[in-house]
Amino acid sequence: MQLVNGYKLMSYATETHSVLPAFNTTNYELTQGIIQGIQKTKSGGYIAISSSNLELSSPNMIASMVRFAMKDAEVPVALHLDHGKSFQDVKECVEAGFTSIMVDASHLPFEKNIEEVAKIVRYCHFFNIPVEAELGAIGGKEDDELSEAGKTNPNDVKEFIERTNCDLLAVSVGNVHGLDIKPNLDFELLEDIYNISSVPLVLHGGSGIPFDQVRRARKNNLIKVNYGSDLRNAFISTFGKEFENNHNAFDVKSLSKKAIENVSNKVIEITNEINYSNNQ
Ligand SMILES: [Zn+2]
Repeated sequence: MQLVNGYKLMSYATETHSVLPAFNTTNYELTQGIIQGIQKTKSGGYIAISSSNLELSSPNMIASMVRFAMKDAEVPVALHLDHGKSFQDVKECVEAGFTSIMVDASHLPFEKNIEEVAKIVRYCHFFNIPVEAELGAIGGKEDDELSEAGKTNPNDVKEFIERTNCDLLAVSVGNVHGLDIKPNLDFELLEDIYNISSVPLVLHGGSGIPFDQVRRARKNNLIKVNYGSDLRNAFISTFGKEFENNHNAFDVKSLSKKAIENVSNKVIEITNEINYSNNQ
């Protein structure tokens, strides 16, 4: 199956009353594990790569790996740029065939954030690709960079969406990247934003958020939840545990297969948990 357009995937979520998981990849094994896992759940989702990981694997390399992994797939998957850091990264990803884009200009002052996002939205909309933008900084470890936390100000939401024309909004409501801190979502703030926002909402830092909180957040027009750390953990620990047990554990092939399986199982667990009530 071909990658689906981001707008189509968003409609699919609305029609199926489900929240879409977005899984971050970095390399071949994570990519295979993610696609295999999504397949087994028989529901749709995103495979994503963040700008900072593109230093290791180019947009073209990732897009062709994902297409290869998707050749027998039968569920809708969009390829998403996560935390797009520059217009150049966005352009390269669109040219490589990505079907959904996030631009992260949340570290910039409000006006500059709007300016940067609006420019990228104009470009992506020309190619009929939806754009996620971030308002308020999401704290914690975002790949290799630490960011300062600052919750989304609901008073900025309406103006931000109107002036940028973004399609999805990533919010900072107590969620943090990584597994180090167990966050408590600020549901009052989430509800305030939901009441104002004309576009569906996105939560980053899914790995740290208890599943019951994600399920509770779904009624606030939550469309997408990002998962990275959980999968990286499933991947790395496969090799780490084996090496700790046996310093002569050099069988990369069988360990890679095991890592793919472990990543796939984590993807299935997450997808089923966040859409739990749908399956009842
Ligand atoms: Zn993020």
